[in-house]
Amino acid sequence: MEISTAVKKAIRYSVVQNILKHYQCPDTCGAHCCSKGQIHFFEDEVKVLTVLDQEKAKNITNDGLSAGLYQMNAPCSFLNTSGRCDAYNSRPTVCGMYPFKVNTSGTTLGLQPCPIGFLIIRDFAEWIIDTFSKSGVSDEEKTRIKEEWQKNVDSYEAELVDFHFKPVLKEMQIPFDELEMLSMFLSSKKAKNS
Ligand code: SF4
Ligand code: SF4
Repeated sequence: MEISTAVKKAIRYSVVQNILKHYQCPDTCGAHCCSKGQIHFFEDEVKVLTVLDQEKAKNITNDGLSAGLYQMNAPCSFLNTSGRCDAYNSRPTVCGMYPFKVNTSGTTLGLQPCPIGFLIIRDFAEWIIDTFSKSGVSDEEKTRIKEEWQKNVDSYEAELVDFHFKPVLKEMQIPFDELEMLSMFLSSKKAKNS
């Protein structure tokens, strides 16, 4: 099995896709995630990108830490002048899951509060509040949870302000099993609204 396939399985990549399909990046973002920082690739992904465009793939180098891990300094050379990805159908794992990010916990994914990330955080809070409102916990507890999550949403909204200029964003951690629940919540919300 290719390394990117194994990693995708481990990090619930398909669940992340089921969440991301409910959102669309605003043009005003200017492909921030392809323009700043570093982009990481697995070896098999580099081979695919090299076949696609050898010249652009020349900017990808080994990250110096692991034989199978590669990187490119942003802006990514596959980002075209219209702000779109020229390798979209073959884009690397990290690109396909952003604003979710892998971490070393092995149990959670990080979520960056970029414009799309913030909308996901807001829906996540709605799901938590909705779940507790239907549970048997006391009214006081329901109020406490609602207030706590409203504060969380407000703090991520504040983080979103001028996010283009921040080197590091406050990341929210979402456990793998809650990703599945969020995905189901979003699908049922969409079905109700259609
Ligand atoms: S994923 Fe976030 S940072 Fe990247 S283009 Fe979409 S809104 Fe912007
Ligand atoms: S490969 Fe595509 S999605 Fe990934 S960073 Fe480059 S332009 Fe962005």
